[in-house]
Amino acid sequence: MRPQIPAATIFFSVVVMMATRLGSLNALEQEKGNLFWRKWLKRPLPSADTMGRGFSRMDLEAIRSSLRHVYLRLKRNKAIPKTSGFHALVLDGHESSASYLRCCPGCLQRTVHTQGADRTQYYHRNVVAMLLGEPFPILLDVEELRPGEDEVAATRLSRRVLKRYPRAFKLAVVDGLYLRANFFQLFLEHGKDIIAVLKDENRDLLEDARALFPLENASVEDDGKTRRQVWDIEGFESWESLGREIRVVRSVETRSFRRQLTGQAEQQTSEWIWATTLSREKASTSAVVRLGHLRWRIENRALNEMVISWSADHVYRHHPTAITAFWLTLMLVLNLFRAFLFLNIKPCRRAGHSQLYFARLLFSDLCRENSSNIPAELSP
Ligand SMILES: [Zn+2]
Repeated sequence: MRPQIPAATIFFSVVVMMATRLGSLNALEQEKGNLFWRKWLKRPLPSADTMGRGFSRMDLEAIRSSLRHVYLRLKRNKAIPKTSGFHALVLDGHESSASYLRCCPGCLQRTVHTQGADRTQYYHRNVVAMLLGEPFPILLDVEELRPGEDEVAATRLSRRVLKRYPRAFKLAVVDGLYLRANFFQLFLEHGKDIIAVLKDENRDLLEDARALFPLENASVEDDGKTRRQVWDIEGFESWESLGREIRVVRSVETRSFRRQLTGQAEQQTSEWIWATTLSREKASTSAVVRLGHLRWRIENRALNEMVISWSADHVYRHHPTAITAFWLTLMLVLNLFRAFLFLNIKPCRRAGHSQLYFARLLFSDLCRENSSNIPAELSP
């Protein structure tokens, strides 16, 4: 019988793999000769296979509790500033892997029409919850979509976040996908406001708003090279299933820029429309516009960064529990890494270096068997 390797040993081995951006369990296993592991884990590094198997049995609630613990520490240290007067929750859907060959009981399926024939593609999709924040978002939780689900997973995630983080935010800022009455009502029941992108999904409200915009005066704001014409109208009743009035804010934005190749001056116009339960007393027009934009920017930046720089989409082990456990672990590592970077390292030492530079420093430290730069919070 093989000796039992504690879950904590496996978990903290993966924490180091992620913090140092090794990218795969096999790459981590290559480091097994490093004396660092004796100091860090007090035992040898488990094999890649053992770590993969361990993660498919990992206690997800234990990792979620660690995420909450880090959030509470940051909050106690007043390290989570408000944005435009709010602590805001952001939800974002993300497709995390796709394959024609491999599937697991948690895989979603779709038919892809290729030149030769129709093929079944297997993929995973999740919803990520994070707190809007500068200089870094705080990642809170993730929920996998189960086969046959769409926005239900976001509701499940929202219920859990509302229960676990009841005072962490007063506002949720979400994509048009969640512009649904039951979703809005869930947040309203918990005393939270919500801002959602207004899209075709809510045709009555959108048509009503479009009919009113030309009759109302827009305010004009200049923000650097961008000019915004903004309409802000309260009291729409056309979203009947919501059972209450709603406010709509529209921003038509014209950005002036010069083409690099030709040197020609050009303008680019974009339109943004949001529906919100926030009254004007609670949030000004520019606050709604700013929060709506920030959600888009932060959700893109946070998820792109997780995927491109931190291998979030890598399938370390193709198993439903393992996939969620690896995502939750990466969220924990990133919160700690960014907190360490932005709160512990002096701005003058940080200046001119990317986050990846510091991740590489951690890795070179690991190679030198000198772990002094690894944050104490990451210790087992
Ligand atoms: Zn799968």
